[in-house]
Amino acid sequence: MRRGPGGLGRAQGVVALLATAEKTTLITPYGGTLVDLMVPEGERAELRAYANTLPSVRISERAVCDLELLATGAFSPLDRFMGQADHQSVLDTMRLTNGYLFPMPIPLPVDEDTAAQFKIGQDVALRSPANELLAIMNVEEMYEWDLEEVAQKAFGTLDLRHPIVAEMHNWGKYNLSGPMRVLQLPTHYDFKSLRFTPRQTRAMLEGFGHHNVIAFQTRNPLHRVHEELTKRATQEKDGVLLLHPVVGMTKPGDVDHFTRVRTYKALAQRYYDPDRILLSLLPLAMRMGGPREALWHAIIRRNHGANHLIVGRDHAGPGNDSNGKPFYGPYDAQQMVEQYEEELGVTAVPFQMLVYLPDEDRYEEVTKVAKETKTASISGTQVREQYLQNGKQLPEWFTRPEVAEILAETYPPRYRQGVCVWFTGLHNAGKSTTAGVLTTLLQEFGRNVTLLDGDVVRTHFSEGLGFSKEDRDDHVRRIGFVASEIVRHGGIVVAAAASPYRATRNEVRNTIGQENYIEVYVDTPLEICEQRDTKGLYARARRGEIVGFTGIDDPYEAPQHPEITIETLSHTPEDNARMVLNMLIEQGFVRTEAPGLRDN
Ligand code: ADP
Ligand code: ADP
Repeated sequence: MRRGPGGLGRAQGVVALLATAEKTTLITPYGGTLVDLMVPEGERAELRAYANTLPSVRISERAVCDLELLATGAFSPLDRFMGQADHQSVLDTMRLTNGYLFPMPIPLPVDEDTAAQFKIGQDVALRSPANELLAIMNVEEMYEWDLEEVAQKAFGTLDLRHPIVAEMHNWGKYNLSGPMRVLQLPTHYDFKSLRFTPRQTRAMLEGFGHHNVIAFQTRNPLHRVHEELTKRATQEKDGVLLLHPVVGMTKPGDVDHFTRVRTYKALAQRYYDPDRILLSLLPLAMRMGGPREALWHAIIRRNHGANHLIVGRDHAGPGNDSNGKPFYGPYDAQQMVEQYEEELGVTAVPFQMLVYLPDEDRYEEVTKVAKETKTASISGTQVREQYLQNGKQLPEWFTRPEVAEILAETYPPRYRQGVCVWFTGLHNAGKSTTAGVLTTLLQEFGRNVTLLDGDVVRTHFSEGLGFSKEDRDDHVRRIGFVASEIVRHGGIVVAAAASPYRATRNEVRNTIGQENYIEVYVDTPLEICEQRDTKGLYARARRGEIVGFTGIDDPYEAPQHPEITIETLSHTPEDNARMVLNMLIEQGFVRTEAPGLRDN
């Protein structure tokens, strides 16, 4: 059912027309009506002026996501960051004090100093991390919360491998709560045509004319099995698919949302019946809370007009704990949504594991496949390691070619990734000389190289820095910053700087990323460096004319785990440069069999 690029669903663009429609074929919002915290347009200017006279709180990226969903009614019937009674009730019973289900605590944590500035009953301005004015809150409550209690009751663990539990350690100790007047939703400049509030989503869904809406929650790129599964579910319920990917915060390390949304767009445009799909982005900050999170997702989707939610194996799962065991059982989330589906009006559509049958060129539920039947699948790890890293195209039975291409752009093979080769060692150890040879060799193999020689750089972006510990650290960090940008953009950096302090070198390693960083320790004994004394600096340092000279009266902290150590007494600069080059070839950063090089 391949269609031309004819829009993302028939109903998109008819919001204005339908926004006023009274009759609804869709399930009502949870609690009856959609919460709406937005100040009417006409009153905003005045309130904005008032807000500018108030003390401000800068809230976290997570709280900004929560605020947006509170303001637009996605969390209905919840209409504020939770007060103490609701917070406690949610932890203990998964319900608000008014009896409605709500499994996830939604706090607004602030630190002690911030809390100390406010009085109960006072208005405060809530601002985004970028200082954008969002809302005025009347502080009704400020209460201390207990990390262990929240971690244990809401997420079932204290294990720091759970991403939200780890993050909670950085939250403020007090929660603020009170009614909010929202002046502005957080601004999003990306994919504007795919972002809809619950009200807008409902208006568009109405346009499809189906009562049944099947929501699909996702934080991953979609492959053929997902496509198949969502189509089957939509067909079975004779409804419309609400493809509802999370673009707020997901699990650290996930594929970034820019890449993902490009894949969703391609799929929605080309592979789904436009009368049966609405793609809409959800600025949700996930907690990776497994079963409780799944139930929360169901509430959020009901508010957007969905009466079905596809819940798969390990929905919103945070991975494994520090003992290597999964935090939640694989079907806990499914069971949780099923348990409350009647009360909530949202049915869990179980995600059946589908497998590909190569002999029949079709997908089938794994439970319906006979043991001897040939099946094929590719795991997430295999996608990265066997395919993307090697520049190997993902097969069409696994993923659509458009998706394969977008993923290949984001995750280029190693030979098109950036890498930083960092030479460290004493003055005159041989860093610059070896780095220069390596730079030439890399260009022979078709790679783009930037040489950042500490000495040279000192005349550019480090001009004026001296040789105090602080200045040296600044110098190294600046090289590290430039290097990280070059690496991020797919270039090779060869850096040569004494960089005598271990901690600062490690900082640079972390900025660039372990995977794309190679430390080369130029291990030349001090006596040899002193003999070389090309600029007579060692002699001057010995005479006391220069103070704080590395190796003489300032320490050189040799690397403990360099990726490679080179020795300059028995090996020439070229020998050493070739040794480093070979390592880059072995690791895949340099390709020897590139077209045109085979005859060399
Ligand atoms: P650094 O950048 O570590 O301060 P340089 O590369 O600028 O060191 O200087 C090293 C000096 O040692 C150069 O004059 C170079 O010709 C000489 N040298 C002698 N043998 C070697 C070798 N095997 N590798 C690198 N340099 C060497
Ligand atoms: P750094 O990271 O310290 O800049 P580089 O090898 O890139 O290491 O540059 C250091 C250069 O600065 C030396 O080659 C030397 O010419 C010069 N220099 C001047 N004074 C000192 C000093 N006190 N300690 C080390 N190098 C010094």
